[in-house]
Amino acid sequence: MNPMKRTYRKHDAILTHWIPWLISANRFDSKEDAEGCCFACGVFVHGNLERSHITARCDGGADDVENLHLLCSWCHKASEYITGPDYFRWFEVWSIADACALKATQMGLPIVSALKGNEKAMAFCNEYMDRMEMEKRTVVA
Ligand SMILES: [Zn+2]
Repeated sequence: MNPMKRTYRKHDAILTHWIPWLISANRFDSKEDAEGCCFACGVFVHGNLERSHITARCDGGADDVENLHLLCSWCHKASEYITGPDYFRWFEVWSIADACALKATQMGLPIVSALKGNEKAMAFCNEYMDRMEMEKRTVVA
């Protein structure tokens, strides 16, 4: 069997499991909307999503859909050492920061004015900007 096909089927199972949760958390409107998108930042990366463990394997986390999220490579790297309940805390802050960063980028605003007053999000976004530049190059191609 084509190994790529197997990967996509597993990805689809993860998305199917998490989509009600993602919709109730106002991250996506529908499964179609979420397809190919990073759960954490929402950026469309098509086939480049990576399976990320919520509870790390070394902490006893399983390879089940309940313990896996689909993340872009940068979010995966950012959350690499965050495990269990901490992962969900990261997920929440990270998404807010990313939403701000995306909005600022769409509006053509410097990131600082869009994030004024939200220091936590700003700290994340300072790191995020380099990545937005990278992502723009790969996504808009
Ligand atoms: Zn991401």
